[in-house]
Amino acid sequence: MPLYSTEAVVIRTRDYRESDRIVTFFTRDFGKISGIARSARRSTKRFSGSLDLFCHVMVQFFEKRSQNLVRVEGCDLLAHFHHIRQDVRKMAHMSYLVELILLMAPEREKQAELFDLLLQVQGVFNTGPYSSQKALFFEMRFLALLGYAPHLNNCLSCGAGIESGRSFGFHPERGGLLCSRCAIDRNELVGVSLGTLKLLEAHRLLGGEKAGRLVFSPLALNELQRLLRALVIHKLGRKPRSMGFMEQFMGTDR
Ligand SMILES: [Zn+2]
Repeated sequence: MPLYSTEAVVIRTRDYRESDRIVTFFTRDFGKISGIARSARRSTKRFSGSLDLFCHVMVQFFEKRSQNLVRVEGCDLLAHFHHIRQDVRKMAHMSYLVELILLMAPEREKQAELFDLLLQVQGVFNTGPYSSQKALFFEMRFLALLGYAPHLNNCLSCGAGIESGRSFGFHPERGGLLCSRCAIDRNELVGVSLGTLKLLEAHRLLGGEKAGRLVFSPLALNELQRLLRALVIHKLGRKPRSMGFMEQFMGTDR
């Protein structure tokens, strides 16, 4: 049984039997992995707070043949992200992003880019004030890396671009826009204004730091939020638990 070691973030943890814990890690090298940490609740020395939710850790584990769960042998804390825990909106948003990984990322498939993004979000949330704009754009990047990037610059059916002057709506099932001429049932569409679409396109084209300087109005943020959440609900066939929790705490302050 080889001992593996990898960087990871704790994305779920629950008590098991009398003194154990079952922990799900999102690891840099192996993707999503669940393991059992024996006596984690009895011996504070061995894991010393490193199995708390959102912790950035270095985890060592054994793979057990014929078992889904790995055996967590050791776990060293790299960062705890205390400040995320002190702001309920940050906690709510982190819980949502982590639930997207739990529900949408395949088991044991390396996704280093998504791992880096998760750490980046934690760093930003931990050091700065909560920003719903930043949080929403992180959410969109998460969805893109999970394979669900929304298509937002032209009509999926006829190809008309947002500069064509037509009005558009977002179709969650198709994951993109339909123009007013192509939409058969407007009830299926999530409303999104041309102004918001143009801002999103400018954001996409600018990229990086410059894009971060664009300021989105509360209306634009609200529209972006509605279409991203509709997309997730459609892909999962249900509302993730943390989405409801998050909605209670989502303001439009930046
Ligand atoms: Zn069209």
